[in-house]
Amino acid sequence: MASILNENGAGEDFQKSEPNGAVRSSARWGPQHAGAQELAKLYSPGKRCQEWISVVLCFALMAFNFFHLLAHFHLGHVWYILLGIVGGILTADFASGLVHWGADTWGSVDLPIFGKAFIRPFREHHIDPTAITRHDFIETNGDNCMLTIVPLANMAFNFHTLTPVEIYHIYPWYCYLYALAIFVTLTNQIHKWSHTYFGLPCWVTFLQDCHIILPRKHHRVHHVSPHETYFCITTGWLNYPLEKFGFWRNLEDIIQGLTGEKPRSDDLKWAQKTQ
Ligand SMILES: [Zn+2]
Ligand SMILES: [Zn+2]
Repeated sequence: MASILNENGAGEDFQKSEPNGAVRSSARWGPQHAGAQELAKLYSPGKRCQEWISVVLCFALMAFNFFHLLAHFHLGHVWYILLGIVGGILTADFASGLVHWGADTWGSVDLPIFGKAFIRPFREHHIDPTAITRHDFIETNGDNCMLTIVPLANMAFNFHTLTPVEIYHIYPWYCYLYALAIFVTLTNQIHKWSHTYFGLPCWVTFLQDCHIILPRKHHRVHHVSPHETYFCITTGWLNYPLEKFGFWRNLEDIIQGLTGEKPRSDDLKWAQKTQ
């Protein structure tokens, strides 16, 4: 199922599109795709409210913890801090792959509450990959912010209650956790940037070019139908080793063997919905 990738990161076998995602002819993918339109309509005011609360709480906790990490910094911790940050980023990249793979491959939009709220965006993204570039900051980052609120709140509580000696001992672990939380929180923003071809700030393209965050060209590999590899979307550092290892394929075989469920059946159903 080889297909040539276009500049929006989608397979040419799907559709030719304008840079802003407008579709010229029949809607085989893009904002005019019948499935994409139906999925976009399922974005509700309740969901929007959940995203707003998550973003505000998450960024407040991030700032609070950052201030405390700076206040408790010791030069002797430098190597542990670096190790913690790299470990945190790798863990976030793997977690992004696992969640993305899970939502792309299994489950259905028809599942109560969870389907519409959390599986819908993944289905929409494959048939309208440029929709994410039209989502504002809240819609892009709301769900990931929700994921990190509890660990960040726990860290903030500990900074408030532990003694300076206790914090000194736990400090490298907290650097790991903080880097993990930051990169998990920013994953969808980074993913959005990987689909954005115009107007990106130069520091973002610099980070992409250095492969510190997910590069645009690298993420295109995932957008070749049937979307079965390169699921990691934070830095993408783990995509090549996991692909070499056949990690996702093996995991799918095990799950299919145990449950009888076919991978990506719901995703395929939405992709075929042309009216
Ligand atoms: Zn995907
Ligand atoms: Zn994508």
